[in-house]
Amino acid sequence: MSIADNLSAIHERIAVAAKRAGRNADDIALMTVSKTQPVAKIIEAYEAGQRLFGENRVQEFSEKVGALASLSDAHFHMIGHLQSNKAPKAAEVFNAVDSLDSAKLAERLNTAAENLGKTLDILIEINVGGEEAKSGLVPDSSELERIFAGAPAWTHLRVRGLMTVPPFTDDPEGARPYFRQLRELRERIAARDLPSIKLDVLSMGMSHDFEVAIEEGSTCVRIGTAIFGTRPKL
Ligand SMILES: *Cc1c(COP(=O)(O)O)cnc(C)c1O
Repeated sequence: MSIADNLSAIHERIAVAAKRAGRNADDIALMTVSKTQPVAKIIEAYEAGQRLFGENRVQEFSEKVGALASLSDAHFHMIGHLQSNKAPKAAEVFNAVDSLDSAKLAERLNTAAENLGKTLDILIEINVGGEEAKSGLVPDSSELERIFAGAPAWTHLRVRGLMTVPPFTDDPEGARPYFRQLRELRERIAARDLPSIKLDVLSMGMSHDFEVAIEEGSTCVRIGTAIFGTRPKL
């Protein structure tokens, strides 16, 4: 199967899951996760019509970005943990950061974006499973409140929604309660009508569980393996 074939197969599965959930497939974005993949594969996906990509390391993507300059309408989002000292480089190479997990990082990204004369789209990463080893903010944490409080001043960031990576379970159904938790958190925050916090995006669902995520309200599924195959070891 080529990357183009895999992309159409995933689009088809997104459509089926959306239909089952009574949703419009156009409301669900497909992000291809190209971390560890060589530039040639990203270009192959682009030529098959793909425009939205996720990468998880600033250093790795910085090395690839030059060779991707001609894909001017492609969007690259940072989806991995981002240390705040790498905020300037991340703001330079990415269109969006989907893994915001501290007010300090937001502050640094805002300054960096301002210096570059650009605005970054932002998702707040939520650690719904409360797992120690995972990044992201615990729902209802004080750090999350600091982000809400700081957001009006970050004029070069646009907070668009929430992202999560639930605890891994072999059975995709195991992720459902976590996806639901993210949706419910979104509803609780939305009810507060906070200035500067838009919550249109719920980024959840990966290769093995994206259909369940769509049933629970995902508006962006992040798919790596099911499009590019098993990731090469770096
Ligand atoms: C790697 C990664 C994905 C894609 O995972 P697959 O199982 O390969 O689809 C999605 N989201 C994040 C945050 C990732 O790091």
